[in-house]
Amino acid sequence: MELTAEMRKKVKGQGFLSNKDGEHFSARIITENGVLTAAQMACLSQAAEKFGNGQLAFTSRMTVELPGVKYEDIPAFQEFVGQEGMVTGGTGAKVRPVVACKGTVCTFGLIDTQGLAKEIHDRFFVGYGNVALPHKFKIAVGGCPNNCVKPDLNDLGIIGQRVPMVDEERCRGCKKCSVEMVCPMAAARTEEGKLHINRDVCNNCARCAGKCPFGAVTHGEAMYKVYVGGRWGKQIRRGDALRTLLTKEQAMDACEKAILLFKSKGRPGERFASLVERLGAEEVEKALLSDELLQRREEILAG
Ligand code: SF4
Ligand code: SF4
Ligand code: SF4
Repeated sequence: MELTAEMRKKVKGQGFLSNKDGEHFSARIITENGVLTAAQMACLSQAAEKFGNGQLAFTSRMTVELPGVKYEDIPAFQEFVGQEGMVTGGTGAKVRPVVACKGTVCTFGLIDTQGLAKEIHDRFFVGYGNVALPHKFKIAVGGCPNNCVKPDLNDLGIIGQRVPMVDEERCRGCKKCSVEMVCPMAAARTEEGKLHINRDVCNNCARCAGKCPFGAVTHGEAMYKVYVGGRWGKQIRRGDALRTLLTKEQAMDACEKAILLFKSKGRPGERFASLVERLGAEEVEKALLSDELLQRREEILAG
């Protein structure tokens, strides 16, 4: 079958990317949060043999691509994977598939990264699925400051945090402070008989949680550090961290506000990172911490 540019464009929008041979397509499956059930994996393995070249490739954005699918098989392929609740997609100038580290089970994980990624998937990947943006918009969720999925190199990145608090009354200024010993950032130090934490250096990793035998160091509820305007690729930019840590609900709202800001202020073809540079990180932070963008949501989406 002769494939026109129009036909290729249409199926690309559905998550079928042209292969080098010019005849076949890679079907991109959305995993929602990087997790598939055994039944879904079995279904994909069958789909790879039935419709593709028998291979499954895992992408850096936690989708699964099955190469070698014929154009005419696309509807049957979609129906086949749909039996296990899977869809294709994840292309175009809109919210892209969400990436999450394995913080849900990782011993360093401070938040349920996969649970949060699923919520982000439902609210923004699906909820904003029909919203055209100036460019693609990538979101990543990391469970701790180890940054395994590089949240700060995404348009919006979220990192789990737990802030240590020192109860000076309880601190005995031990010769060998077990908190100081485990701190990977050398942020915790005993000086003049008391433990001090250098807040400019501490990354809220909570590695010191439960380490003081006298209960002098405790940690509050999990908080969320949000980075905006990161970008990886031809032009690299590390995102700017909001100066305030957020609750989960605030972080979700900040995510929505960032998308609305991008929709309303971004120029066609402009990445969010360039918009953040153009407006200035302080202006962006102000916008993400106020409720104005959410109040104007309908008006922005209609525009
Ligand atoms: S970022 Fe932290 S929680 Fe996530 S996988 Fe890496 S070490 Fe584990
Ligand atoms: S934080 Fe705990 S272990 Fe460290 S000096 Fe104080 S009491 Fe001792
Ligand atoms: S939270 Fe992490 S960086 Fe901060 S004092 Fe504790 S161990 Fe050190």
